[in-house]
Amino acid sequence: MPQSPTTSTISIDGVTLTLTLERKRVKNVNARLRGTTLAVSAPFGMAQGELDPIITTLARTLVRRERQGRVNEQEDALALAEQVAARFPTPPRVARVLFVTTQHKRWGSYSTRTGMIRLHAALREMPRWVLQAVMAHELAHVAHPDHSAAFWSLLREVCPETDRAEAFLAGVSWLGQRWEQLPPVERSLLAGTEAGIDEVKGNGHSPGQDT
Ligand SMILES: [Zn+2]
Repeated sequence: MPQSPTTSTISIDGVTLTLTLERKRVKNVNARLRGTTLAVSAPFGMAQGELDPIITTLARTLVRRERQGRVNEQEDALALAEQVAARFPTPPRVARVLFVTTQHKRWGSYSTRTGMIRLHAALREMPRWVLQAVMAHELAHVAHPDHSAAFWSLLREVCPETDRAEAFLAGVSWLGQRWEQLPPVERSLLAGTEAGIDEVKGNGHSPGQDT
């Protein structure tokens, strides 16, 4: 006989969800996400300790899938990729650009078969020239599947921002990997740091500096 669902709160990727858990005569754990409510049904006999990590995994998949849909709502990325492709001596075909929340180890990939560029969803939040540089990088692999000297030379030709973008992304990865471990004071300091390394008199200005 089904019992009444229990309700609790869980946090996935920083998103707070209301979890309703119902024990049922089912074989597998099932989860459905509606807004911020996660409805889970689980077999009667499954121990809570076994169930919890399954719920976390299912919830993360659903939260990220939902986020992926939102990230791809703006439709300017294909036009941007077509502009990048047009800079190549032999322009590769771009059929679609998809920002994904499932591949987080790489910034991008391109399939010559489907013409699809897949991009790390966080690139959507970054400056446009960085996004374009990643697109250019993936498209340059059509001519050179490796990271050979010929690859870099073609890439720098079609995208002079290449080295700057590489450094930018290395910094983002560096920070992303350490963010949770950074001391809170340094974290707060970083949140207020501007892009320029320092200020030189007569070149640039800072708010509050009245000269
Ligand atoms: Zn590459």
